[in-house]
Amino acid sequence: LFSASIIIGLLIGALFVNNVAHNQSLLARLKNALENRELHFVYQPIYKIKDRKITGIEVLLRWTDPQIGHIGPDIFIPLAEKNGLINKISLYVVEHAIRECAPVLLSSDITLSINVSCADICSEAFREKLLSTLKQENVPGESIILEITERQSSGTEDIKRSMDLFKGTGIMFALDDFGTGYSNLNWLSLLDVGEIKIDKSITDSIGTESINNHILPGLIEMFKNMPKIVVFEGVETDMQYHFLKENIPECCAQGWYFTKAVPLSELRTVLEA
Ligand code: C2E
Ligand code: CA
Ligand code: CA
Ligand code: CA
Repeated sequence: LFSASIIIGLLIGALFVNNVAHNQSLLARLKNALENRELHFVYQPIYKIKDRKITGIEVLLRWTDPQIGHIGPDIFIPLAEKNGLINKISLYVVEHAIRECAPVLLSSDITLSINVSCADICSEAFREKLLSTLKQENVPGESIILEITERQSSGTEDIKRSMDLFKGTGIMFALDDFGTGYSNLNWLSLLDVGEIKIDKSITDSIGTESINNHILPGLIEMFKNMPKIVVFEGVETDMQYHFLKENIPECCAQGWYFTKAVPLSELRTVLEA
């Protein structure tokens, strides 16, 4: 029994070491990819439900490692947040995505939504890079929406103060992933956001017996009386689309029902359609 537990202990230890080594190499690979500009962007259109006009696009990061293959942002963004690499990534996204999109933004009135972490909002380097890139590319602040989540937040006071520094730039904030976590209603009342993005878990519940579906009528009433843009995420079915069209026609939506995230070159044909 004694030697069995030693063997099990060794096995667990080996697994642990292996896991740490794997994470380190993934982090090292991510750093390399960033240096070598191997991270690229795809864009997902956001539609006004009423007339299915595109009101904006959201930029989403993509990373394909030569050895490992495709690694999703759900994996590498939290890794970057944990290891102090997120600021660097966000500087990269802001600079290159705005530059890449500038012709589209300047020739239409669509907005560009960028996912940022709370650490970015509070960083002066981030704010400066964002404002200087907009200036260089002649893009007005009104074209930019910064999407924030409560994940990794240090506290609302810091964020509130930092958000105030964007006043007068025209840049708008959106509260991402609304409906997940428990401080979201709290956040909504504390932070000055112009847009709320309803998490896919709520969209998924439309027409089902899940608890979220029972919360929906209340949420819809609340949104109707709120002077904010409301975007439902992850709309996949005709049923969900028609439910939103009937019940909350002023809202916006994005999801595979309309279009998946695509490179900018493909987006042009979507925008011209
Ligand atoms: P998110 O901001 O909530 O983005 C929405 C995610 O849902 C995206 O996944 C998108 O591709 C996916 N999606 C959109 N419509 C549908 C649908 O109809 N069905 C399904 N099943 N999925 C749909 P993605 O691109 O894998 O991104 C995952 C998360 O990674 C994002 O969630 C965001 O939190 C983060 N992320 C992505 N790009 C960036 C970035 O540049 N910076 C930061 N800080 N985070 C990013
Ligand atoms: Ca988002
Ligand atoms: Ca979201
Ligand atoms: Ca999400």
